[in-house]
Amino acid sequence: MRVAVIGSGPSGLYAAEVLAKAGGIEVDIIERLPCPYGLVRYGVAPDHEKIKSVIKTLETIFSLDGVRFLGNVEVGTDLTLDDLRQQYDAVIHASGAAIDRRLNIPGEDLSGSFSATEFVAWYSGHPDAQVDRFTLSATAAVVIGVGNVAVDVARVLAKQADHLAVTDMPDHVLDVLRRSHIEDVYVVGRRGAAQAKFTTKELRELGEIPNVDVIVDPADLVLDAASEVALAESSALRRNLEVLTEWANRTPEGRPRRLHLRFLARPEAVLGTDVVEGVRLRRTELDGHGGVTDTDTAVDLPAQLVFRSVGYKGVPIDGLPFDERNGVVPHQEGRVLRDGVAVPGQYVAGWIKRGPTGVIGTNRHDAKETVASLLEDRDSGALPVPAATRDPEQVLKVLANRGVEVVLWGGWQAIDAAELALGQSQGRERAKISGRPALLTAAQLK
Ligand code: NAP
Repeated sequence: MRVAVIGSGPSGLYAAEVLAKAGGIEVDIIERLPCPYGLVRYGVAPDHEKIKSVIKTLETIFSLDGVRFLGNVEVGTDLTLDDLRQQYDAVIHASGAAIDRRLNIPGEDLSGSFSATEFVAWYSGHPDAQVDRFTLSATAAVVIGVGNVAVDVARVLAKQADHLAVTDMPDHVLDVLRRSHIEDVYVVGRRGAAQAKFTTKELRELGEIPNVDVIVDPADLVLDAASEVALAESSALRRNLEVLTEWANRTPEGRPRRLHLRFLARPEAVLGTDVVEGVRLRRTELDGHGGVTDTDTAVDLPAQLVFRSVGYKGVPIDGLPFDERNGVVPHQEGRVLRDGVAVPGQYVAGWIKRGPTGVIGTNRHDAKETVASLLEDRDSGALPVPAATRDPEQVLKVLANRGVEVVLWGGWQAIDAAELALGQSQGRERAKISGRPALLTAAQLK
């Protein structure tokens, strides 16, 4: 049996692991980038080395019997769903949630207004990120949303470049961060502090940045009945509130940068004519049910840079049904559903299945469920019947005929070695190579 797993982030790799360990199954992990690991490599913040070290565990999956890496291969362009149906008994789509949600407010597309996704991709050295996308000539930046991505963006903006120079950030990113003019970073939540999505560990880190005063207005920490219930039920929320209350009681020490956490402020418009000049925030109040209502008060916050960090969204997969509203592929226990009926041989795992939630480990359970459905379908004869015997070399021949430069595991190992060598020449563990041509050269293809 041959299975294609599309995407080499945690969900795809955990699915590949369960399949390979089931025995008698060959797994091709097909990845559109030349490098594996998805958001662990290109999403987890560079200064979160401990979270990134999960790569050591994920790496072992590629050495399991029957597992191959086919990098730099884009499904939909280099291989169609029909090609996959010919080459594989089943396909698990684990392509994640690639795009950002929008705010749908005036001024959102002004120059200087970006999605957090773009900034994260840029500082992570994502091959698709434009090298000169950010200059950080702004003195004030507003980050909209209070999830962990907003916290990552705020931390990277607020930290001194010297403290990031030990990470694997590409050189061009460090150069811009060294020249950054940022003085104030505002992180803005439309609901109350008890409704914020960030986790305590990530929140607490903001208060530990040496050059930064964290500023919280006690008036933003008001609670209502629904907040009290939420706090009573969740120790994590209580810890968040404790941290925020401690900051609200701090006196700023006049440090070079300030990080302001604001709640009960709904972004109403990004201000400016050609370029961003600020954000209009509508003051909200808690409605007693976990939501908020607008008040008559609005404030204009001067800023030259805006990041919307309001969640990710999946993109439709050619030939598969799609739930536009939630940005996911409809499924039952990982089986892709068209009009409520399972599409034979097609499965989903990870964010394209359940939406952009949870931590890396959440994907292990998620992938197990999907693979269990696939194995059940194999055993009950519900998978499509192959037209001919499948030859593992065939897919490589198809790709070679189409001029696709496939990066196999050896190619990735060459990139890995090149990044480690570059890093060591600069006194750090790794320096990322950015840009697809440079990566393909490092993979010794050019
Ligand atoms: P998230 O946790 O869902 O947070 C999204 C934020 O955007 C929420 O505060 C939400 O507020 C706000 N928002 C949504 N629509 C809005 C609108 N129209 N106007 C204003 N605010 C709006 O998403 P995320 O931060 O992108 O994180 C995605 C996942 O990755 C999460 O599971 C996260 O924990 C995980 N992650 C983890 C780490 C880590 O562990 N270190 C780091 C990064 C990401 P409402 O609640 O009011 O909707």
